[in-house]
Amino acid sequence: MTATASPLSVHDVHKTYAGRKVLADISFSLVPGEIFGLIGLNGAGKTTLIKIILDLINAQQGDAKIFGAKSTNLQARSQLSYLPEKFQPSRYLKGMEYLDLALSYYRKKLDKNEAQEKAAKLDLDPKVLALRVGGYSKGVGQKLGLLGAFMVDASLLILDEPMSGLDPSARIKLKNMLLDQKKQGKTIFFSSHILSDIDEICDRIGVIHEGKLFFIGTPQAFKANYQETSLEKAFLNSIEGTDVASH
Ligand code: ADP
Repeated sequence: MTATASPLSVHDVHKTYAGRKVLADISFSLVPGEIFGLIGLNGAGKTTLIKIILDLINAQQGDAKIFGAKSTNLQARSQLSYLPEKFQPSRYLKGMEYLDLALSYYRKKLDKNEAQEKAAKLDLDPKVLALRVGGYSKGVGQKLGLLGAFMVDASLLILDEPMSGLDPSARIKLKNMLLDQKKQGKTIFFSSHILSDIDEICDRIGVIHEGKLFFIGTPQAFKANYQETSLEKAFLNSIEGTDVASH
């Protein structure tokens, strides 16, 4: 028998918008239980890649598989939970109602006590869950989205810029939560501009520039390639020194 299927594998994905290539030849696969960080400048292609994985848009070529099944298959996607870059639930829903709705998509029942416990772990005042989303600040809204993504309890988490809008205290809590999820055997794939966070918690990273994934490996190996101790500096060196778009 084959070994356990990869939680997420992407094979030879190409995407063009109006004749312009925004993703070319993207292939990688995740190891169960790892935290994988995707880094790149604005416009590098991160969100486009995530949208293809989620079947929100089509690729011209290539495919993505969730635990071995094509991600275009609804059943396959039921094993993942996703937080978009711009998370905006209906402003008329109360926080708890949003969670109830999010879990219902996965045919799961909301445990309100669990929601309150997990909210506190994310630095989200549980009392806020009784209020309408319309009155939330950006950071509180982001924490609600994260709470929903965690409560779904899926085996694969895909988070697009999950740290955005969070203050340093909430970011630390989120990192702990991600490490906790990893301990429970979940696999996490996320994008972030906060490279120190990526360096701190990711087992591996993928570095994307102008639609090409030109590095996959440990943050340590990436820093060593550029003889830097900070991931940020190594990243800047990598995109200055390599005209990856011409390969
Ligand atoms: P990132 O998430 O890394 O910031 P994106 O995946 O959002 O990058 O964008 C990659 C490239 O694709 C950018 O040049 C962006 O302008 C372009 N792009 C994204 N969505 C569309 C769209 N719907 N139509 C045309 N071009 C798009």
